[in-house]
Parts: sequence; C-alpha cells; structure tokens
Amino acid sequence: MTPFAERVLTLEAEGAYAVLARSQALEAQGREILHLEIGQPDFATPAHVSAAGIKAIQAGQTRYNPPAGLPALRQLIAREAGRQHGLEFTPSQVVIGPGAKPGLFFPTLALIQAGDEVIYPDPGFPTYQAMIAIAGGVPVAVPLREENKFSFDLKAFDAAINRRTKLIVLNSPANPTGGVIPLEDLQHIAAKAQDFGAWVMSDEIYGRLAYDGNQVPSIASLPGMPDRTIIVDGFSKTYAMTGWRLGYTIMPEKLAERVELLLTHSIGCTATFTQFAGMEALTGPQEQVDAMVAEYQRRRDHIVAGLNAIPGIHCLIPQGAFYVFPNVKSFGRPSSEIARRLLDEAGVAALSGTDFGPNGEGYLRLCYATSVRTIDGALEKMAEFFQALSA
Ligand code: PLP
Repeated sequence: MTPFAERVLTLEAEGAYAVLARSQALEAQGREILHLEIGQPDFATPAHVSAAGIKAIQAGQTRYNPPAGLPALRQLIAREAGRQHGLEFTPSQVVIGPGAKPGLFFPTLALIQAGDEVIYPDPGFPTYQAMIAIAGGVPVAVPLREENKFSFDLKAFDAAINRRTKLIVLNSPANPTGGVIPLEDLQHIAAKAQDFGAWVMSDEIYGRLAYDGNQVPSIASLPGMPDRTIIVDGFSKTYAMTGWRLGYTIMPEKLAERVELLLTHSIGCTATFTQFAGMEALTGPQEQVDAMVAEYQRRRDHIVAGLNAIPGIHCLIPQGAFYVFPNVKSFGRPSSEIARRLLDEAGVAALSGTDFGPNGEGYLRLCYATSVRTIDGALEKMAEFFQALSA
C-alpha cells in the first residue's frame, strides 16, 4: 500500500533537470561540463525590463493583485496578441500566471474529465503528458516525424482523433525539435477539431523565435478557431525572463473565468512587480529581442553545420525555438545510452530524445542558447566521441 494518490505515482522528473543535476555532480568532482541541456536563454533580461521590476518593488508593488493579473497588463496583452494574431481579444480573455506552465496546466484541469482523450505531440514538452495524466485524461500521442520536418504526422492524427477527443495540444515552434507546423497542416487540424468538437491548446512560447525572416502561423487565427483555442505564451523565452515567472493564456471568456478560479485557489496571484516588468517588456524597445533572435539564428546555423560534419549524424535545420534534434540512429545505440555516455565520457550535457517521448528514440536534443565557444567545444568533443563509438 502506498500512501500517495495515484495521480502523482506516474510523474517523472523533466530530463533537463535530471541531467543538470548529474552534470553538477560531475562538476563538483572537478570535471568540466559543456551545458547544452537546459532550455533557457543565456542572455540577461534586458536592463530596462529589470529596472522596471526593481522600480516596482521600490514603489511598494509587493502586495496581492487580482488572481487573473493586473488589469493594465491583461489589456496590453489583449492588444499585442490581438495585433499579432489578427484577432480582437478582450482583457477578460487573458489570464496571467507565473510562467507559461500554469497556462498549460489549469485550462487542462478546467476541461479534462476522467476518460477524455487528449492528443499531444511525441516527441513533445514533457509537461503535456504530465498535465493530461493529472487531469485524469487519456494521453494520445501523435508522432512528429523528421520526414515531415517534425510537423504533426497527419495520417496518425486522423487515426487518433475521434468523438472522445476533448483537446489537441500543439506546440509551434516546438520543443524539442525546433519544428514549425505549416499553415496547411494547421488548416487540416483545425477542420478536424471543428468536425469532432475538440478544443485546441496552442503553445506559442517560442512564437517570436522564428528564423530566416519567417512568421509562425497560429491555429487561433484560422476561421472557426478563436472559440475553441487556448493560446499559451509568456515572457520566459522571448525576453530572457525564465526566473521572473511570467506567462499568460488567452481563451474564450467562460473558460477564462474557470481558470481564474483555479488560480485563485492555487497560486493566488502572480507576483505584482514581475507584472510591471512584463509591461515594460511589451511597451519598451524591442531591439534586444530582435538582436537575440538574430544571434540564435547565427548559432543555429553554426551548430547544424558542425553536427552534419560529424560522420553518422544527420541534423535538420530547425525553423524556430533554440533546439536542434540531431538523428543519431546510425550508431545503433539507444539515445539514452548515447546521452549518458556523452556526459560521462565527453563532458557534453545533452538530452536523450526519449526524454520527450518514445518517438524521440534515435535523436538527441541540444539547446544552442549558449555561447559559440561552448557550442564549438561541444562539437569537438562530440566528433571524437562519435568517432570512437563507431570504431
Ligand atoms: N512550453 C514549452 C514548449 C516549453 O519548452 C517551456 C519551457 O521550457 C514552457 C512551455 C514553460 O515556460 P515557462 O518557463 O514560462 O513556464
């Protein structure tokens, strides 16, 4: 007999945190480790944004605020996101939370009952499966395939969707693949969602991190979709604000009311001064965001070229986010073994593709939100490691 509720028994740690802990243990023994495991910008939060947060603390903005967030920030987000999606949002559709994760978790809790099916990407961000399980839903994985540039496998999607499908989770640009779902695929998914009466959760946290001048299309903007789409976004990646904890969700008003109640009785509210920093991020100069995106693109090109120069590795050019997902199938070893040995033997911290679901077998995930020097060091060590592995 276990004393714990079943809903927590299947939960697992996120691979990135597990590898980080292991690399830190190795560093404590004096080993030098090159970190490409954690998905967060290496840039500092823009100074004007930090200054706005500090000023807010000094001005006494350290008390409770409404559970769904400061009205002024909700209004700003409604305006900005509306402009970006070509839609009109009202502030009452916007719910602020401490990071994007609550924006994934609480709408799922508000929608999913025991037995409801939820379609989600595999490989995909591990929180999707966890939140579906906690809500008592049935997780239905749809593979993302390299041959489709890691968009949804639409044949598998068509086979998976049915009348019990309550929610479809999309992530574009995606963690861990960097893939972007093209407009035609979104149109297909949107038509099916309407046929079967399903909601769509569109995780757009990497929406601004798109390369080669491309814009990432959103399913929310397609006809018939605003009433059934939950847009999840936040400040963590775009504004290098992972530790501030600030995100938001935009959804139909009736759902937002339920989500607000869940927030009321769980987190209470999101830090007030953090929201002041968020307002500055949205209204202040955007040059630093553009500069960060340009730098990520430079690093992307550098790491992709370096990986493809290693015999046996094949790496697609990701269109967004800050991850590469190289194919290492030719080495004939499980990804988890390769990732573990890369860390232990070569001092390169990377994640196994299987940390993101069974369909990640045969791949590694490397985060290139780090210096070119670290990337070059890792490429050199990987070249030696893989040469020895295939010898
Ligand atoms: N969604 C995806 C796809 C992510 O990769 C992450 C973080 O890595 C999040 C959501 C969570 O973002 P936040 O740190 O704002 O909660």
